[in-house]
Amino acid sequence: MSTRSADIAEILGRELGAGRVIGAGDDRLADYGRDETTPAMLPEGLVPPACAVLCEDADEVAAVLRICAERAVPVTPRGAGSGMVGGALPVRGGVVLSTERMQRILEISSDDLVAVVEPGVITGQLQEAVEAQGLFYPPDPASLAMCSIGGNAATNAGGPRAFKYGVTREYILGLDVALMGGERLRVGRRTAKGVTGYDLVAGFVGSEGTFGVTTQLTVKLLPLPPGVSTLLAVFADVRAASDAIAALLGRGIRPRVLELADRASIDHVRKRSRYRFPDGAGAIVLLEVDGDPDALDAQVLRIGQDCERHGALDVLVAQSPTERRALWEARRQISPSLREAHRTKINEDLCVPRGAIGEMLARVDRVSAEVGLPVAVFGHAGDGNLHVNLLVDDDPADPAVKAQIADAVGRLFAETVALRGTLTGEHGVGLTKRDHMGVEQDERVLEWQRRWKAMWDPADLLNPGKVLPARRRACTE
Ligand SMILES: Cc1cc2nc3c(=O)[nH]c(=O)nc-3n(C[C@H](O)[C@H](O)[C@H](O)COP(=O)(O)OP(=O)(O)OC[C@H]3O[C@@H](n4cnc5c(N)ncnc54)[C@H](O)[C@@H]3O)c2cc1C
Repeated sequence: MSTRSADIAEILGRELGAGRVIGAGDDRLADYGRDETTPAMLPEGLVPPACAVLCEDADEVAAVLRICAERAVPVTPRGAGSGMVGGALPVRGGVVLSTERMQRILEISSDDLVAVVEPGVITGQLQEAVEAQGLFYPPDPASLAMCSIGGNAATNAGGPRAFKYGVTREYILGLDVALMGGERLRVGRRTAKGVTGYDLVAGFVGSEGTFGVTTQLTVKLLPLPPGVSTLLAVFADVRAASDAIAALLGRGIRPRVLELADRASIDHVRKRSRYRFPDGAGAIVLLEVDGDPDALDAQVLRIGQDCERHGALDVLVAQSPTERRALWEARRQISPSLREAHRTKINEDLCVPRGAIGEMLARVDRVSAEVGLPVAVFGHAGDGNLHVNLLVDDDPADPAVKAQIADAVGRLFAETVALRGTLTGEHGVGLTKRDHMGVEQDERVLEWQRRWKAMWDPADLLNPGKVLPARRRACTE
């Protein structure tokens, strides 16, 4: 049975109650056709949603997926809409299924070190709730004040603390999912260990809402580290900073955070920052260690001395939460400062093997000069995950500027893969990187992923048009 887009809002309204469906003519619907993706990076011809549905529990999610499957209406799952690759934007219209009203923390167990939550819970709120009980949920995407835990699982989100603690996948033990058609599954477990059967949780995590809709998550917690100490070291250039980082890691230090920012980033942040950067500042390293408070002082002192030995122009250490916030300010203000100073900023989250960071930074400079677009680079040096920001002051809708951006992005991806890196360390593929997948992955690898997607969603109705590019040619063995 096929249904006109206009009718689906009415059908879902009858099922869930009219107040839960935002249909055509409601100003709020436009919000469900955008997210935090730079508009210049989105492909032409996206069909806006016919309606958005605000589900309140798993039964409703399953009902929406059943009704839409019966009528061949595409469904796009949406958490908080903070995604940067267009993952929550419909390609073929249809229904946006929002989990924003599924925000209950159902359980926090200090005995089992787990929390059970609904997918719409805001990540920062989960962190606060568990920390109030002396527990710790480490994944910390910079968007944690706005993004949802369901969205984090769908994109396998990471953050600065990933260097020591890993990314979201390592904290998802179990998932309740609803499939297109309405079938419901519980996959995974509650235990710290478990190897029964294939690891379906690992498959759903990072599937960007194309396999199923998560309706409940069991996440792993840790005891809250008793002490944290933060250090900011300023260097003359990224080469000196990279050498210092290599020396620190070489002697076995495992910071929980290891952030790097380049000269262009510092130049943008200088005006807003309360910290007066020394003359000649060309790179900063922000480093954080956690653990036994009695041992931290000595550890940080030694790290500071190591940085000075490697030419640091200044080293600042913070121990109190206020001092720590002040040091983080320099790092946190980079992105807003870049956005404020330029008409458009395109943030690619490339990831290279850690040993290739210095070479990648040199190649980024070369691409920037060849294409004629300035860049600012900051990111998670511990993981080789670099946010390369292309800074655009001309109209990005101008075809010549569009071509310039596409050229820069294409070259950056090619350099990344040449250094055995990967196109995205955090944000996911979504729409904006979909057509670049072939740069990194073999056509046969893409074809197996298409088969995997077809297993969960044979009619290609759940978040269609995402992650996997269209087939280029018949795949032969
Ligand atoms: C300022 C800023 C900073 C950021 N920093 C980081 C960072 O440090 N690290 C990082 O990894 N990302 C970062 N991001 C990107 C973004 O916040 C993450 O990708 C986040 O995980 C998206 O969560 P969300 O709830 O907003 O999901 P949405 O944007 O709503 O959706 C993202 C994807 O998840 C799917 N999805 C959402 N909920 C579900 C569900 N319940 N079931 C199935 N699929 C679902 C959607 O279909 C879509 O494909 C940042 C974004 C911004 C704007």
